[in-house]
Amino acid sequence: MSDVINSVDADSVYLEGEDIADTKAPAGPIEKRWDERRFNAKLVNPANRRKLSVIIIGTGLAGASAAATLGEAGYQVTSFCYQDSPRRAHSIAAQGGINAAKNYRNDGDSIYRLFYDTVKGGDFRARESNVYRLAQASVEIIDQCVAQGVPFAREYGGLLDNRSFGGVQVSRTFYARGQTGQQLLIGAYQALERQIAAGTVKMHTRHEMLELIVADGKARGVVIRDMVSGEIETHYADAVVLASGGYGNVFFLSTNAMGCNVTATWRAHRKGAYFANPCYTQIHPTCIPVSGEYQSKLTLMSESLRNDGRIWVPKSGEDKRPAPDIPEADRDYYLERIYPAFGNLVPRDIASRAAKNVCDEGRGVGPGGLGVYLDFADAIARLGRKAVEAKYGNLFDMYAQITGENPYETPMRIYPAVHYTMGGLWVDYDLQSSIPGLYVTGEANFSDHGANRLGASALMQGLADGYFVLPNTINDYLSAGPFEKIDDSHPAAAEAVASVKGRIEKFLSINGSRTVDSFHKELGHIMWDYCGMERTEEGLRKAITRIRELKQEFWSDVRVLGTNEELNQALERAGRVADFIELGELMCIDALVRRESCGGHFRAESQTEDGEALRHDDEYAHVSAWEFGGEGGKPILHKEPLVYEYVEMKQRSYK
Ligand SMILES: Cc1cc2nc3c(=O)[nH]c(=O)nc-3n(C[C@H](O)[C@H](O)[C@H](O)COP(=O)(O)OP(=O)(O)OC[C@H]3O[C@@H](n4cnc5c(N)ncnc54)[C@H](O)[C@@H]3O)c2cc1C
Repeated sequence: MSDVINSVDADSVYLEGEDIADTKAPAGPIEKRWDERRFNAKLVNPANRRKLSVIIIGTGLAGASAAATLGEAGYQVTSFCYQDSPRRAHSIAAQGGINAAKNYRNDGDSIYRLFYDTVKGGDFRARESNVYRLAQASVEIIDQCVAQGVPFAREYGGLLDNRSFGGVQVSRTFYARGQTGQQLLIGAYQALERQIAAGTVKMHTRHEMLELIVADGKARGVVIRDMVSGEIETHYADAVVLASGGYGNVFFLSTNAMGCNVTATWRAHRKGAYFANPCYTQIHPTCIPVSGEYQSKLTLMSESLRNDGRIWVPKSGEDKRPAPDIPEADRDYYLERIYPAFGNLVPRDIASRAAKNVCDEGRGVGPGGLGVYLDFADAIARLGRKAVEAKYGNLFDMYAQITGENPYETPMRIYPAVHYTMGGLWVDYDLQSSIPGLYVTGEANFSDHGANRLGASALMQGLADGYFVLPNTINDYLSAGPFEKIDDSHPAAAEAVASVKGRIEKFLSINGSRTVDSFHKELGHIMWDYCGMERTEEGLRKAITRIRELKQEFWSDVRVLGTNEELNQALERAGRVADFIELGELMCIDALVRRESCGGHFRAESQTEDGEALRHDDEYAHVSAWEFGGEGGKPILHKEPLVYEYVEMKQRSYK
């Protein structure tokens, strides 16, 4: 291991460790790899499964689908979520749709095309084997969900309907109006409830995982706080699965549900799980613009709206006329102009940057000039208001309720906002992290989207992981179990419990002058300003210094009222914000070290002449997997080289 001191990080913010590899993905023809892995993975016979136990953290699409499937298979599953019902997981918010290579439209789609689009959309920073498997599983997901009764939109003839999402030229997105996540989650939830009733899954709501127990080198349990009584509990199993979602709320303002946090994965990271590509954040181009400092949440306007909505700004920054009064000749439909082949359906990273550019030029609309128009006038003229209402009605209603403007009559105003995190815990092809027995699924892992996720691919990945991948890989590990029983007397368990209790006591005893939220907001500002849509070497250095100071201030001046033995949201948030602060630093370090632009990671120093992201494949065609360097220590970078055998790495073009 060498202490890296070079121009990137003269103040040496990290160490470099050995390269790593994913040893689980088979070689050979890509279309056979998943079959081969399933065949070679050791099996557990049905009679033995009931002797094996699995803890699953999270009941979103990734966790609920995994719990239902493993329960049905006969394992003893214990599930946790912090909401009062599994059904309130953040997945419920997903709006626009889920991709699958069914080619119902007969428009040239195929498993290979979905694979190709996703690798390219991710700016060549995802693993080919994983993405190909995802494209294969996509087809099965739709069948599974239809069998569960998920009410996907249908065409007049009764077939499932499809629409398009960014970064593709086919229609492969299945949807249930603007509530696709809700309908999919109800399907997964019903399957989960069935297993709860059958006794194979034990469900604990309002329970938050605060620590992972790693005993004798294996993930064997979790420390949980009962959020109502404050009781600290331990739970043990033969394997642990984290399906705890993404960490976009590190930015404070995001489209994520308020409760989304990084604690489960960050605690596991501190126990040895590598954190991969933390700087890859997705900034979604179509969100309702920020309207003031008091806001704690941003609202997404689904990407599906870009099927029919046209994005534009006035040609001149001086033009302050209301949108409907600006004639066609004075409008700049900039995405259609710059990217004629994909038009308004370019991928999110590209659409977001283009919106930022026109606003930076002074042509933005609305308060503060931080907005662009998303206009449905043409669609309404072409299809009729009724048809537009049928497709997008609930999204239009939501917009009208939030802004007080009628989007059927005046264009929506939108601006990019933090939406999704491509980074997450590093996993191999089996979805196993660098800690044996710890598996990670859904948005919580880093696996399939590279540096930019295409729209409608997160639901696909979460459900692929939970229904199809994990149930066919975790058996390989569990076949060696059941492992030796452990209980609270094991030193690893005692240490984990003591550390949770110690942290809670510390939060309650600081008695400082600032609220938890004020720290979170400040962190969010730092992250948005320096590690948001555009990153620079200078800005990232500043951010790292500022976050380190903020961490010290937090631990000496935060004020958490109340006690542990009650429902205490300030206490819950204190733990989450403490973890966000540490994660924020790692994100900035990761962004600093990756001196190229790729996907959602745009380094101002690395762009083409026309302002597009410029990758440096010779130096950065790798996954950055970070090992925790100990309290106060430097994180250790392990590189997993990315090899492309099927898709040629080239500069992305959507022109
Ligand atoms: C507004 C919005 C719209 C979206 N629309 C789409 C779309 O149309 N198509 C698409 O593909 N993607 C969409 N996405 C992305 C997609 O919804 C998410 O990536 C996906 O739902 C994440 O699912 P998940 O199961 O991994 O995590 P989540 O649904 O976030 O579930 C996390 C679970 O983990 C639990 N949990 C977390 N931490 C702990 C802890 N410490 N202890 C106990 N439990 C814990 C939570 O209680 C919850 O049950 C959208 C995202 C947003 C924000």
